[in-house]
Amino acid sequence: MNTNLSSSPDDEGEPVQATRFLSQSFFILFFSSCYYTANPQNEVTVQPTVFKEPVAEKPVAPPVKKKKTIYITFDDGPNKGTKQVLKVVNEEQLPVSFFVVGEHVYGSREQSAMWDSLQQSPFAEIYNHSYTHASHNHFVTYYQNDSMVVADFERCNDSLHLETKIARTPGRNIWRTPTVSKTDIAKSKEAADSLYQNGFTVVGWDLEWFYSSDSLKLKQSSEELFQQVDSILVNNKTKTTGHLVLLTHDQAFADSTDASALQKFIQFIKKKDDYAVEFVSKYPGIKQ
Ligand SMILES: [Zn+2]
Repeated sequence: MNTNLSSSPDDEGEPVQATRFLSQSFFILFFSSCYYTANPQNEVTVQPTVFKEPVAEKPVAPPVKKKKTIYITFDDGPNKGTKQVLKVVNEEQLPVSFFVVGEHVYGSREQSAMWDSLQQSPFAEIYNHSYTHASHNHFVTYYQNDSMVVADFERCNDSLHLETKIARTPGRNIWRTPTVSKTDIAKSKEAADSLYQNGFTVVGWDLEWFYSSDSLKLKQSSEELFQQVDSILVNNKTKTTGHLVLLTHDQAFADSTDASALQKFIQFIKKKDDYAVEFVSKYPGIKQ
């Protein structure tokens, strides 16, 4: 029986076929083995397992909110509004700054008592607003005489034994600090320079909480004032970026409704994480 798969006519029979098959297989195996030996690239290599240290995920820090610092200042005390202001400040435990008028301390028994309370409060810092409040609001003539201006401020410091020479000029938004120099009315420039040359740091304001001089009523609500504060800071309209000095007057808070508005404003600021409240002595560049 012919089991040959080949149908070639010159078949030499089964034994010949088997021999040829074996020799062909031998050659294939031989050359294959030679080829694999000569080509180490074909060697099957087992990669060693590399154990990597687990990479600790870096904690993602929450975005840092830029702090806005507000300096709440009260001018002209001690007077009839000071008591209410100090009550709110002590309740809210917030640092605020009082620019006092020297002769107001001796104006009445109540005012002297308020002066004592101001000094005792850890939330109040007291600065100089002149002794006579520009010779009782005679601003133009007052600022024409720079040596008189300096003497008036020196008198206030000496009389009240103030710890710093931080001052605010009555009726004038003047700045003389190591980093800010501004004069709102040019005719006051010499007096402002003289104050600075005599060691006073003069701090004006960026925003005022206005009140009616007749009714003493506040002109902006707490909400309106906060919106103004925030807008001025966001739009970088302050003398120093991120720092806002707010001017208010003690006498505007003599009425309990207005004192409540002050408390509401302070509580509003306290709830804002990105707001800080500081004494004027902490204002950038002021080192006393
Ligand atoms: Zn004043």
